[in-house]
Amino acid sequence: MPELPEITVIASQMRRELCGKTVAEAESRQPKNLNMPVAQFVETVKGKIVREVTSKGKWIFLKLEPSFFLLINLGMYGELLYYVNGQKLPERYQFKLRFSDGSGFTIFFSWFGYVHLVAEKDLKKHRLTANLGANPLSNDFCFERFKNWLSSKKKTKIKNFLLDQKNIAGIGNVYVQDILFQSRLHPNREISTLSQKEKQDLYNAIKDVLNLSIQHGGLAYEKDFYGQNGKFDGTKFLVGYKEGKPCPVCGTIIEKIKTRSTSSYICPSCQR
Ligand SMILES: [Zn+2]
Repeated sequence: MPELPEITVIASQMRRELCGKTVAEAESRQPKNLNMPVAQFVETVKGKIVREVTSKGKWIFLKLEPSFFLLINLGMYGELLYYVNGQKLPERYQFKLRFSDGSGFTIFFSWFGYVHLVAEKDLKKHRLTANLGANPLSNDFCFERFKNWLSSKKKTKIKNFLLDQKNIAGIGNVYVQDILFQSRLHPNREISTLSQKEKQDLYNAIKDVLNLSIQHGGLAYEKDFYGQNGKFDGTKFLVGYKEGKPCPVCGTIIEKIKTRSTSSYICPSCQR
């Protein structure tokens, strides 16, 4: 599943390619991805100009002029691919947007996903994005705020807190593994037991782990806007998906354990 690093990479590539372009045509082969009837969607999006592309959590926001947003979520796995005028399109896709210069993009959803067109005045009412938590790489994600959030959820286990998109948007079960390892926290630690130093280490680890992946273009099994795979592969993980291998710090064998509905990879010595 694409998490914050992959979505950040795609959004920045979309910004580079699409800003200033005018929508000529939209096509949907899977109407349930949309938030309105296909004909209405096609009619509304036509003629709009892309002004900005940003992301929050696992959502991509295309600001369209006048006064709309196109919101995209790739779900469990999706391919959002750019094409230039005359280029052969992928065989399978459920959604396509074409611009007046002949370029555009297609989206293939392997499971579910969303392409929602929302009027700017209704953006705060869009229930899937309105309650997303902070972007951990934005400037307003400061340690003070992070500490206050933690304090408001004392009884919550730290891994559940990190995965809850209403707290921090964009961390999923892939990156949370090394974030917890780097801050030497067991996923089931209750927030109330965290020391000041552990909170600071956790805050730093969130930024470090996500930034490292962005520098490598995201996960190796996810594609970017140009169809290129990321370079963040198995060798870059510290403990994530490495059960049976030695801990990179102390050499203890890494274990895979069940934590609520997700799996966790931990060093039982470093993460007590
Ligand atoms: Zn260890």
